[in-house]
Amino acid sequence: MKTILTGIRANSELTLGNYLGALLPMVRLANKYSDEMNVNIFVPDLHSIIADIDGDLQKNIVRTIKYYLAAGLKVTPNVHIYRQSYVPAHSELCWILNCITTMGEASRMTQYKEKSEGRDSCNVGIFDYPILMASDILLYSAEYVPIGEDQFQHIELTRNLAMRFNNRFGEIFTVPVKTAEQVKFMGISDGIRIRDLLNPEKKMSKSTLAENSKIMLDDSPELATKKIMSATTDSLGKIKFDMFNQPGISNLLVTDALVTDTPLQDVIATWAGETRYGELKKKVGMDVAEMLREFQSKLTGISDDEIYALFDLGEKYANEVAGAKLREVQKSVGLR
Ligand code: ATP
Ligand code: MG
Repeated sequence: MKTILTGIRANSELTLGNYLGALLPMVRLANKYSDEMNVNIFVPDLHSIIADIDGDLQKNIVRTIKYYLAAGLKVTPNVHIYRQSYVPAHSELCWILNCITTMGEASRMTQYKEKSEGRDSCNVGIFDYPILMASDILLYSAEYVPIGEDQFQHIELTRNLAMRFNNRFGEIFTVPVKTAEQVKFMGISDGIRIRDLLNPEKKMSKSTLAENSKIMLDDSPELATKKIMSATTDSLGKIKFDMFNQPGISNLLVTDALVTDTPLQDVIATWAGETRYGELKKKVGMDVAEMLREFQSKLTGISDDEIYALFDLGEKYANEVAGAKLREVQKSVGLR
């Protein structure tokens, strides 16, 4: 059986952008395939500690999985939910892969370059993180790893390490499919990019300081509506989908399509010829509020115990699968 693998770091509260661009598409994909594939959903808690953690990491870990459930994830027997740090094989394989990775290729990772900004004070975890990510994937022979564009380079690195290892030590790893095929599998032509509400040329990011630039998943529905009402638009006076000239308006149309699960073309058609931005904002504000209300009410209905029970089951499975793969690796390099 094939495997899909995904994880979202639990460092802080997520934005509406994270929800619409990462969480929801993943939940839809999982629900679509979990009859015929393994769906591994893990909390990369070891990845979390390379950066600042906002709040309590333990709470954030549990909350992250609650988000999947509140977003509609169906937990079938093929869905495996686990914490990375509860499966020691991840760290162990990372060490072995470190030893076949060159400084050159790890240094070329754009995320590392951006996050370190050449500072000597940057921690080694930030440098090594793509190799831990390769371990996360290869231990489970995952072919599909639905990710954003910002992670494509890490998938290519994972593929290179798997092929290099297989060449030297025998056919041990399943090589994940190329990024172009990953995108096809996800079923989205262009990545979804929800824009910053105040500066719609940029994408919405949780690390942006201005509160009104982003909608957080724990914002009250009223606050979210207010933020939409104060979103930056333009002075062209027509409601048209044109990301280049009217990014603010286009972002509102995209957001509405996603929160109401309506094809974007239909939303665009509804507003064709309209000129009143206030009306559009009101509608989007209402729809986002409605989505949040439903999401938050589902969230409060999920207990911590429920999540810990899922971890228990998932970690048993993960340790078996990952442990067996690690053993193969150890044997092939002569450690066993
Ligand atoms: P940070 O500011 O810390 O980089 P972020 O909001 O960009 O936070 P990430 O942790 O980098 O979030 O990404 C988590 C996931 O959310 C990734 O899959 C990423 O592609 C997706 N994502 C992030 N921002 C958006 C957005 N504005 N629209 C759609 N998807 C997004
Ligand atoms: Mg980011």
